Amino acid sequence: MNSPKSAYREEAKKGLASPRLQASLHNLQDRFGKGAMELWATMDDQDMRKRVKKSRMKNLEHLDIILAELAENVTARGGNIYFAETAQDAINYTLEVARKNQVKRVVKGKSMISMEVGIDPALEAEGIEVVETDLGEYIVQLAGDPPSHIIAPCIHMDRNQIGELFAEKLGIDFTNDPPALTLAARKALREKLLSADMGLTGCNLACSETGHISLVSNEGNIRMATTMPPVHVALMGMERIVATLEEHRETIQLLTRGATLQKLSTYVSFLGGPSSDDDPDGPKEFHLVIIDNGRSNILADPEFREVLACIRCGACLNICPVYGRIGGHAYNSPYCGPIGAVVTPLLDGINKHADLCKGETLCGACKDICPVEIDLPRMLAALRHKLAYGSDRWNTRQHNSVEAYTFSLWGFIVTKSSLYQKLIKIGRFFQRPFVKKNKMIRKMAGIASGWTDERDLPPIAQRTFAELWEEKYSKNSSPQPPVTEEEK
Ligand code: SF4
Repeated sequence: MNSPKSAYREEAKKGLASPRLQASLHNLQDRFGKGAMELWATMDDQDMRKRVKKSRMKNLEHLDIILAELAENVTARGGNIYFAETAQDAINYTLEVARKNQVKRVVKGKSMISMEVGIDPALEAEGIEVVETDLGEYIVQLAGDPPSHIIAPCIHMDRNQIGELFAEKLGIDFTNDPPALTLAARKALREKLLSADMGLTGCNLACSETGHISLVSNEGNIRMATTMPPVHVALMGMERIVATLEEHRETIQLLTRGATLQKLSTYVSFLGGPSSDDDPDGPKEFHLVIIDNGRSNILADPEFREVLACIRCGACLNICPVYGRIGGHAYNSPYCGPIGAVVTPLLDGINKHADLCKGETLCGACKDICPVEIDLPRMLAALRHKLAYGSDRWNTRQHNSVEAYTFSLWGFIVTKSSLYQKLIKIGRFFQRPFVKKNKMIRKMAGIASGWTDERDLPPIAQRTFAELWEEKYSKNSSPQPPVTEEEK
């Protein structure tokens, strides 16, 4: 997330103008968005989501205790624990492990936190080859693109583009046949996996009671990336932890349902440390890097703590009307969609990512689909409040004072009925030159121009609802002439 000023608007426009992206996003939301809502409605255990939310929030309250227990249990089994306060700390530690083991090639499992801290460029600057092994991540790595979905990173590409990419990068004949493309990737990746010196992954969940981490996948790459190389480094956001195995079981079930509508993913890897005499499979060294990088600030603020309950299933992307049009690149962060619009500003600067929370609609669909019922709309509104009025706690300055005063004035007007009605009458008169033949306003001026950049605006009605009501039900009102065709 070392991005410069938000490129949200430009990327959003590009996404809107791409028929290919629009088709992909439509298919994604039609299948996974609708599917998840049906799944929650028909699930036998209707209390599971509430239970998991409760346990996620409870664990956040005792985070220090369960992280200490996790560290103790991992260490007891021969693993190494490192608490990284910043992204740079996590990079430094990983580089140190790589240097000590003379690592030349790293194979990765899909990990958003590795992108958040920026580990790939740091490894590459040391002359270390970094290879993504998740198929979608491998495709975007070959293409030189950032991922555009938490679970489906190459959703912005179709099979023809992937066929052309593989022909160019892997030297195979062009094909757009998915099994043939998968086989080509498999062959290329198998060679990398067999000769890698280090595996680098994220962590879906850690369990403090047992001292293991778990990773879910449908491709089998995680098993190979974590057990074949002699060293495994796992990067973990400090909130990705449960206290007990029972909580782990339910949380993983919700994660895979939310992510891919599966009761359980094809592989769930439980990783508890390096190999030993009793358990000879696995790496010789295991390192768990537990990363803060701004999460403590979120934890300390009751207004936003809830966002740390997120299990990164990606379901909120699959229903969001904004993500569903603009795609993931506009968010300029490994975390896109509604969750990205909340967590990216909190981790990387509210002013820097101001467009993200302002771009969402607050329709509430993300909360409805979220397996742990996180109230993202409430937090989006809270972020907008920080931008409107500034916040010392979040080191946020007022984003746009003209806008803030305009809406304060608007708030005043709409609570004064008689003033509002008078202004409606004045507005109706002055809007006349702007209303075109199709009875719509095509272009607004000044700070209001954004409203009509992408769509026409209906003018103020010749007879508003309030006026019709008054006319129909008020005893004192005198009958008005009917609305003429021209007025309509
Ligand atoms: S906010 Fe909810 S739906 Fe979105 S990624 Fe997190 S857990 Fe999944």
